[in-house]
Order: sequence, then C-alpha cells, then structure tokens
Amino acid sequence: MASDLDLNESDHDQMVSGRSLWGKSGLRPQWRPIEQSFSAEVAVIGGGITGALVGEHLSARGFSVVIIDREEPGFGSTSASTAMLQWEIDSTLTELEEYYGFERAAGIYRRSGAAVAGLSKLIAANGIACGFRPRNTLYLAANQEGARDLLEERQLRRRAGLPGVYLEHPDLFTQFEIDRDAAIFSPSSAECDPLLLTWALIEMAVRRGTRLVKASVTALHSEGDHVTAETDAGHLIEARHVVLATGYSMPGFDMPKLHRVSSSWALATVPQDPAHFWRDRALIWEDTHPYLYMRTTADNRIVAGGEDDGTTDPEMRDRKLPAKTMAIREKMKRLWPKADTRVEHAWCGTFGETADGLPLIGPVPEMPHVLAAYGYGGNGITFSYLAAQMIGAMLAGMHRDWFEDFALDREGPGLRRFGEGVVRMGSELR
Ligand SMILES: Cc1cc2nc3c(=O)[nH]c(=O)nc-3n(C[C@H](O)[C@H](O)[C@H](O)COP(=O)(O)OP(=O)(O)OC[C@H]3O[C@@H](n4cnc5c(N)ncnc54)[C@H](O)[C@@H]3O)c2cc1C
Repeated sequence: MASDLDLNESDHDQMVSGRSLWGKSGLRPQWRPIEQSFSAEVAVIGGGITGALVGEHLSARGFSVVIIDREEPGFGSTSASTAMLQWEIDSTLTELEEYYGFERAAGIYRRSGAAVAGLSKLIAANGIACGFRPRNTLYLAANQEGARDLLEERQLRRRAGLPGVYLEHPDLFTQFEIDRDAAIFSPSSAECDPLLLTWALIEMAVRRGTRLVKASVTALHSEGDHVTAETDAGHLIEARHVVLATGYSMPGFDMPKLHRVSSSWALATVPQDPAHFWRDRALIWEDTHPYLYMRTTADNRIVAGGEDDGTTDPEMRDRKLPAKTMAIREKMKRLWPKADTRVEHAWCGTFGETADGLPLIGPVPEMPHVLAAYGYGGNGITFSYLAAQMIGAMLAGMHRDWFEDFALDREGPGLRRFGEGVVRMGSELR
C-alpha cells in the first residue's frame, strides 16, 4: 500500500512575530543544508521543542535519527512560548471527566504530572542551563461562580490523588495579596527558557550521532516498510519511521475534528524589584474569558499572556499586537498592582488547540510508519515531552491502552466546545 502526504509551506514569520525574550545566552546548534539523499531509522520533521525532545529521546534509545527543519531550529512557535511547564491541563479535570469519565480523566491528569516530573528530571540529570525553576501554581477563580467550580474541581482532584489546596478569598489575600474569590494552589509545575532548552536537547541528540539538516520536506510517501520524504532541494530521505513535529504548520491531511487554530499574545515587562513579586513567584492562571496568565523570569521580568482569539491570518494577528499588549498590561496591573508595567517585549503567535485540551500523538491514519507529535494548547511543552516518551515506546513495539487517549482519530467532545468560527487545518495557513 502506498500513501502520500503534502506538507504546507507556512514559515516562521507566519507563525510568530514581535520580539520574544528567549535564548539570549545560548549556543545555537550547527545546522547544515542537505547535500545528498540518505536514509535513517527515524526522520523527525521539525526542530522546535517537540522535534528536539523526540530527537533527544529516540537517540538515547539507540535509534539513528535525523532532525530536519527548513528554518533555524527553535524560532517557530517555540520562541513564542511563555514556557510555563504545567501539569494542569487547559481542560479542568471536571471537564475531562464529563467527556471521558472519571478514571480516564484522572489517568490523563496523572500522566500530565508525570510528564512535568520527567522533563524536570531530564533537565536536572543533564545539567541543562535553561533558566529552569520548579514552581507552584495559583489557579484563580474569575468570580463567585468560578469559586464554586474551583471547589468542586479541587474535590475531584483530591479523589484522583492530585496535590493542591483550595484557598478562599481571606487565605488567598493574606498569603498572596491577591484579591480574587478563590484559588487552587498546587505544587510541581515549573518554568524555563524554551529556546535554551530546545538547543540543548538538539545538541545532546547530535552528540549521539543525530544529523540536523536544513531542508523543507514537501511531501511524504509511505510505501511498504518505509517512508520517503521529498525535500525542496531535490534530495530524498528514506526512513523506517517519520515523526511530524511541525508545530502549528501542519500537513495537508484532514485534521481531527476536535482541532482548531487560533492566536495568542504575550509580553514581558522591564525587570522588577524582586521584593515586589507575589509569594513564591508562582505561575498564575486566571480563569477569565479570555484568560490571563503570569510568570516571572530569571532576570526578574513578569511575562504575561492570553487574550487568545480565533484570528488565523498572520497579518491580522500582528496588527492586533498593540491593542492586545495594552489589554494584557491592564489586566496584569489589576491583578498585581505592584507590577512595573513598562513593557520591553511583546509578541504573538499561532496557537493550536483541541476541544478536549489534549494533544494529538501517535500514528497518522492512512499513513503507515508516520507518527504525529502535536503537543497543543497551554501545555504544549509538557505534551511534547509526553509525545517523545510515547513515540519512543511505540517505535520499540510497546502498546498501552491509554495511548488511545491522545490518538489523532479519538472520539472527543468535537467542536461544539469551541462554538462558532471553527477552521480546519491544511488550508488557512498556506
Ligand atoms: C504566545 C504563546 C504562548 C505559549 N505558552 C506556552 C506555555 O506557557 N507553556 C507551554 O507548554 N506551551 C506554550 N505554548 C505552546 C508551545 O509554544 C507550543 O506547543 C510549542 O512551542 C510547539 O513546539 P513545536 O516544536 O511543536 O513547534 P515549532 O516550535 O513551531 O517547531 C516546528 C518546526 O517545524 C518546522 N517545519 C514545519 N514544517 C516543516 C517542513 N515541511 N519541513 C521542514 N521543517 C518544517 C518549522 O520550521 C519549525 O521550526 C505557547 C504558544 C504561544 C504561541
């Protein structure tokens, strides 16, 4: 059986714009144009955080790997990420329970927790200098009704064995000086510089023999026991398996019906007086619509983001940057009046989401030996780590029933959760 797949041509400029603040002190991996056709056991298409994690993990498992990117690794969506490494998923446990039942929802949350723990261990064990810091999270209710939802969410999390405490307004205000109705305070998340992490992981893979090549993969042909990748340079890469780690620039297959593309905006302030930060420098997530989140950086800035909307046109997204920056800044000031809100960096990027808040990981239907690693949503990086582990296990011949929770063809809540304005991939970013 032979199957073909065309890949789209959207470049980094269509994915991200503005000025993000990452990767200032890092060594960029050596990246060379493809010069001839060759073969490898696994071809990973994409050298962002997902391709880097997959490449690192597969090379550690002993596979011969090539990572292919048509632009400089890391400067796609990865450079736009605010890199909060959270186990709390975009969908609450309550929502996931509604879609999939308690046991499956609890299993998904625990696996997300294990992914953050695994990523933290990988960074520590290899001494990766990427501004990594373990952080607690503060998940804030938007109002009284939100407070009631949060209490139920915390009770459900307790039943699932997940850590954290529910804080009512007086405790929240006394402990954190944050004036909101309630919050869930949880341990075991983290933050990092996503570009430094990506480059370090690619270096680790390269030291184990992984090739890093510059080429645009224009089409894939899955034939018999291998896949051939066509490149724009005319050279072919033949691989036993291909992993699509192309971020939000996705191939032209009909994407699962639970997926959509939107845009997200973020800013970084000038460095703050560290004495003026909130307790623990916790990662903050406010459950408003649109949501607001905040973290701090190693050089004492506040990074804040949100204001997501359904914009898919890159020019329109960029035009909205000043107004979105202003909106985020105002919300940040209301939440944390001590902030010095002078903005030094503001940026935006394409953002992929799924209706259930879960990633798309595993075999691409109708394309034998082609796997996808699309770690979408606010937990993109956590899910990229999960994707690397799952794909490593799949290529080693292991199967676990829970892999189906993240399958591209899973039955999810569908698009009704998103309401109007839904788009399908494979066309809008071309
Ligand atoms: C504003 C914003 C804030 C975010 N905040 C967070 C956060 O706090 N925490 C979190 O976990 N996630 C966050 N995310 C999500 C996270 O950034 C993404 O999930 C993650 O960066 C995706 O990485 P990736 O490697 O899959 O994609 P990318 O970084 O986009 O890399 C894909 C690479 O594939 C290459 N490519 C594509 N097609 C081809 C082809 N045909 N041939 C060759 N190369 C190709 C591209 O050039 C690109 O370099 C955020 C995203 C945005 C936009």
